[in-house]
Amino acid sequence: MNVDIIVGGTKFTLNRDIIVNGPDSKLKRLILCEKDVSVFSFDRPKSHFKAILAYYQTGRLHLPTNACPVAFQDELKFWEISHTVLEKCCRIRFLNFLLDQKHFEGFSKFFISPEEKLDILRRSSCHGKVLSKIWNIVENQDSNVLAKAF
Ligand SMILES: [Zn+2]
Repeated sequence: MNVDIIVGGTKFTLNRDIIVNGPDSKLKRLILCEKDVSVFSFDRPKSHFKAILAYYQTGRLHLPTNACPVAFQDELKFWEISHTVLEKCCRIRFLNFLLDQKHFEGFSKFFISPEEKLDILRRSSCHGKVLSKIWNIVENQDSNVLAKAF
């Protein structure tokens, strides 16, 4: 018996047994619970679902070539599939991306806004007023004559 799975307006038809005998997921749980239902509809990105559908068809989960790993991770969460089942070829790419994200977040902590810099100057120096004026001149180069001269 076939089921129609409509994702993002696109219908995917496949044999119910492929899902029932496939890996655990939200889709499998729904199909097992709703035995009389033959159409399931989800308002999710269809491009990511193709990889998930292939996971049922082949037993292998790959990260779509043009997918943002974070967006794909969101889809995996929605479909209740762990990223740990990603095939090794794509797991490395996925984990490297997450590691890069973690490094970027740590690195971005070193950057502070100009307002925060100004506030730090005002609080940390006995010459805070002078420093903050110099800072304003340097930061607002388009708006004053002194900055243009600087
Ligand atoms: Zn792969």
